[in-house]
This record gives sequence, C-alpha cells and structure tokens, in this order.
Amino acid sequence: MYAQESLFAKLKSECLAYLSEQDVNAVYQAFLCAFEAHKPQKRKSGDPYIIHPVAVARILASLHMDKPTLMAALLHDVLEDTPVTESELTEQFGEEVTALVDGVSKLTQMKFADRAQAQAENFRKMALAMVQDIRVIIIKLADRLHNMRTISVLKTEKRKRIATETLEIYAPIANRLGMHDFRVEYEELSFSALFPMRYRILRGALTKLQQERATMVDTIAHALTDCLQSHTIEKFELVHTDPHLYGVYQNMLHKRLSFHEVMDKYRFWLIMPDVDTCYRTLGAVHHLFKPVPERFKDYIAIPKANGYQALHTTLFGPHGIPLEIHILTDQMHKMATNGIAAHWLYTSFTHLQDAADPKVRAKAWLQNLSEIQTHTGSSLEFIESVKTDLFPQEVYVFTPMGNIVELARGATPVDFAYAIHSDIGNTCVAAKIDRRLAPLNTRLMNGQSVEIITAPGARPNPTWLNFVATGKARSNIRHFLKQQKRVESVNLGRQLLAQALQVLGRITIEDISEDDWAPILAVTQHKQVDDLLESIGLGTQVPQVVAQRIISTLEEPAPKKSKSRTRKKPPLMITGSEGMLVEFAECCRPIPGDLIIGVLNNGRGFVIHHQNCANMIKACDDPEHYIPVRWEENISGQFRVDLKIELINQRGALAAITAAIASSLADVEDISASETDERYHTLYVTLLVRDRIHLARVLRRLRRLKVVHRLNRRHLK
Ligand code: MN
Repeated sequence: MYAQESLFAKLKSECLAYLSEQDVNAVYQAFLCAFEAHKPQKRKSGDPYIIHPVAVARILASLHMDKPTLMAALLHDVLEDTPVTESELTEQFGEEVTALVDGVSKLTQMKFADRAQAQAENFRKMALAMVQDIRVIIIKLADRLHNMRTISVLKTEKRKRIATETLEIYAPIANRLGMHDFRVEYEELSFSALFPMRYRILRGALTKLQQERATMVDTIAHALTDCLQSHTIEKFELVHTDPHLYGVYQNMLHKRLSFHEVMDKYRFWLIMPDVDTCYRTLGAVHHLFKPVPERFKDYIAIPKANGYQALHTTLFGPHGIPLEIHILTDQMHKMATNGIAAHWLYTSFTHLQDAADPKVRAKAWLQNLSEIQTHTGSSLEFIESVKTDLFPQEVYVFTPMGNIVELARGATPVDFAYAIHSDIGNTCVAAKIDRRLAPLNTRLMNGQSVEIITAPGARPNPTWLNFVATGKARSNIRHFLKQQKRVESVNLGRQLLAQALQVLGRITIEDISEDDWAPILAVTQHKQVDDLLESIGLGTQVPQVVAQRIISTLEEPAPKKSKSRTRKKPPLMITGSEGMLVEFAECCRPIPGDLIIGVLNNGRGFVIHHQNCANMIKACDDPEHYIPVRWEENISGQFRVDLKIELINQRGALAAITAAIASSLADVEDISASETDERYHTLYVTLLVRDRIHLARVLRRLRRLKVVHRLNRRHLK
C-alpha cells in the first residue's frame, strides 16, 4: 500500500513551482477526498485507483493549470464511481470545482457506440458545445491521455475501441484547441494500440536510423551552436526532432512514400527569446549552410491558418544532407505545442483582465489567433470554425436511439420532431425531455435526450410558429397549414356539390365514376376532382352549375324514358354574374325578362339562349342537353341585345335612330349597315340594356320614328 503522502509528493512539488502554499493545500484536500472515496477501487493494472486522478492532475500541473482545475482533476471520477455526491462536493470544495467535476462526468457519460462512428464530427462538436468551461475539456483531455498511457493493461477489444475513439474524437479536439503535444501523444499511443506490429517495425526502423544519425546530429548541433554563439546569440534552445510515427505512417500510407523518403531530412528546432533573434538566427544559419532555394517560409510574418508561427528553412548540411530548421520564439513554441492551454502556462497572458475566468482565457486565445491572422490578412476560416466550436450557435441533443441531432440554438421539441421527419413533426402531440414530459415549446439544452410522442391524425398547431427556431419546422408547419386549407376547401366544396346534387335528386357524388368526371373537369379546366371541389369550396365555382353540368353529362347517354323527368328539373337561377361558367349566347343575346334556356355543351360551358333563338330550334332534337333556367329577380348590370332595323333610305335617318336610342338611356355598342335596295337600308345595332322592359321602351321610341320601316330582335324566330 502506498502512503498518502508519497502519492501526493510529486504533484505537490510540481504545484509549488507555480502555486502558493495555500493553493497547494487546497489541492491536497481534494486529493484526500479522492483518496478516501476511491480507497476500495483498483485500476485494471492492480494499482490503487487514486494513481489515475493524481496522474491526470500532474499532466495538468505540467501545463500550469489553475488550482480549481487541479482539484477537479483529482476529483474527476468521484461522482461517477464513488458514493460521494454533488452536494457533498459543493459543500467541501465550492461550486466552481463541483461544476468542473460535473462537466467532466457528463462528458464521460457520453458513450461512443460503434454505430455512432459516422457521427464522430458531430460528437466532437457536441463535446465542445456541452462545456461552458473550456477547463472541463482540458481535464477530459488529460484524463484520456493518462488512460491512453496505461492502455496496455486492457483486453485487445477494449483497447482497440478506446484507441479508435481517441483517434477519431480526442486527437481532433486537441488539434482544434492547438494542443499539439496532446494530439501527437494520442496518435502515437493509438497507433501502437491499433497496429502494434506496424508500430513496432516503424519504431525499430526509427531507432536504427537515430543510431546511424547520432554522430551526424551531434556534428550539426555543434556546428549550429558554434555558429549562433559566434553571432553573439547565446540564449537559445536547440532541439533535434523526428516526426512522430503516426505522421510517418500516414505519409507512407497516403503519399506512398518509403520510410527513408519520409525521413529524408534532419530536423532542428531553434527556440529563441524574441522575434528579432529569430531573424538574426536565420541570417546566421544561412551563412553557415547554403539554403535550398525557395524553401524558406516566413510563418512569423504570415502565420499558418491555425496560428502557428515560425521561420522555416531548408539547408544543404554537411555532405549535402537536407537540414530542416524551424526558428521560433519560446512563446510561439508554447502556443504551437500547448495551444489553448498555453494561456495558463505562459505567464505573459496573465496580464489579461479577469485572467482567472476560463471563458476569458478561451476568448483571449481566439482573440490572439485572430489578431495574428487579421494582422497578416490571411484566412479567418479556421478561427471562425474554432469559434463556432467553442461558442456554438447550435444545440446537440440525442434521439432515444442515441443518435445526435444538431439544432439551432433555442430549438424546441417541435424543431427536433421536424428534424427527425416531417411526419413526426406533423403528428407530434407531446415530448419527453430526459424521460420527463415537457411542454412542446421547451428550449432544448445540450446533451438532453428527446423523445417525441405522436398521435395518428394529430396535426400541427398554428401557434407552434410562435416558438419554433428552425427553418425546417417553420416551413413544414406552414406547408401543412396551407394543405389544411385546401383539405377544408375541398370538403366544403364536396358538401356544397352534394347538396346541389341532392336538390336535383338523382345522383350522389359517389355515383360519379372517374370517366364521368373527365368531361366535367375538361370544361371547368381543373386537373383533378379535388381542384374542382376546392374552387367550389373557395366560392369561385357555383355548385348548382357544376351539379347541373354533372347531371347533364351523366344523363347524356341515358334512355329516352328519362325525358319526362328532364322536364321536372328545377330551374337554375341565373344572375348574370356567374362569371366564366355561364355565358350568354352570341346569337340571340338573351336579356333579363326573356324566356331563356340553358344548354350544356362539352367544351363550351353552360350557355344561356333565348327560348326562341333560331339556333335552338335545331338543338331541340336533343332535349337532354337543356337545363331549365330562370332569371333571378332584381338583376343589375347591362346586357347586350341585337336589333335589326329596316329603315327608309333618307337623309338623317341614322341620326334619328341613335338619338332615339340615346333618349331611352341605352348605349349603342356596335352599329353596321347594309343597303337592301334603293328604298331601304338595313341597320344592325347592338345595344346595352338592363332588361326586357328597358328594351321595350327603346323599341317603342324607335317605332315612333317615321324612318323605321321594320324592327325586330335578331335571330329570334
Ligand atoms: Mn478518469
């Protein structure tokens, strides 16, 4: 059994390097709590469990993370795995630490099923979105790092699962946050866990190469050091690096390069106290070894998209071997390796107001990246995407099956329902959030699981439009309501038509077959029966007229015996304002007061003729086409009527006629003349009159004229 003190000793001395004794004591209290809570537990390796939280805290101490972060790191598994409760934590360590522990526990609870692999991207976004406090992510990353360092004790299957998850989720998150060292270590450990053979072979090849190169590396390092010192550059750090094996492996795999092609260069980092020295160093090394033309990159003046800054140059080293040199400041180096965590590590950032607030830190990191970028006018895309990751506009929730759904911030269960499927949205009646019934207008929060309860026949409520947050829900609801209006119009139209048919008393709508509808639809210019019913419902078609049309169409081929019944048809009342469906025959031009008859003709609509129309005599062979019609009383408007006037051929005759018409308050719409013989003229006049009485007055006035020889309405027998 380890003694408590010795377990804490290393962490303690690491903390004392940058924290006050008082702070270190607070960290120790957290350690004691975790120690007690985890006492009965053992790691898979057989070690006491407390080894793990202490190791996590030490990783974070190496990043100089603050006191609450270290305390939370020590306590990060107690809520999950021990009887210690949230309120006990709050009581002993305060809300800040408890919130961090709670955040880490929630992240841990997010399980990564195989099925969800395709959702890795969403998962990363969600992980970032779920935390209000970036320190939660950093603790979680450290937690994962230690678990990866000790992964060898796990069984093969679990080891592969954890390693895959690390590659797909944690490495990209670390990369996103600029934590390069974490990323590299994740990738190395995952690579070795997933492909132990390949890893071992590459490791062996690298070790062999390093041995072969050791003398040369020494020679170059000495040459570089001497060179810099001769240029009075004394304070610097020289690091020889090799690319990490997962990177080498990726290059071999995707660029189809051999190991030696990937490893063709010697790489050195020269870490300088300031930017000025970086440029002086560049001059010095260019003086020492000849630079390869066009391989120099000034990423200090023009940083890479992720904010990375350094001078890169390639030199012809001793015996012409390629030498890649990266020159950068200490601060750039820390930013390049620790990313967002460098804001805790690097003291020059602590001048920030509210530096203790992790949100301020995270924002400062972004601000810093963004300043570097705007300063140099390069792409802001990366910054924008990181910004949306850290301060997202979306919420991420789970389906009952564990799939992740991304929704706009402020989204409600209704938005969720429509995001799943429009049918679910249209029939949703209630929702469960985290298994509890909740109102449909509840704003969803990250990480909640949402279940929609639907009911067959349920329909969207127009009031949903007041609270939905997504365009998809909005447009679906609108579409449905519009559809609904149509459904209602069609229903109303159907009722009106049924009623009209009932009055006529012969057939019902159900009796009408598809074939029977076709000619009716052709006349009314509707594509479908529902379209026709809709226009009846909306009032643009007169149901009686349609009913009459249906009857006449259906009874066209009917046997003779129905003739007698035809006469019993109740007359359809005509107002003259039916619109397109009812037209007045051009030949006889009936006017209110005339005896009229309706004629249905396929393709011509419903035409009103004068009962004495000359044309009607011919049509009389087929009485099934007739519809009894009658004028409504009190019809307003003007109706055309054609007159044929034979007048004596004398001067002023035409003037007398028009004067007589005008005096009887009728308008002349058209007038034409033809000479019958020397004595008589024939005049054809189209007048606008109100009705038969009005016409009678006009005719009386005309007959009084001496010039009028004969006078009658045209086309009437
Ligand atoms: Mn853990």
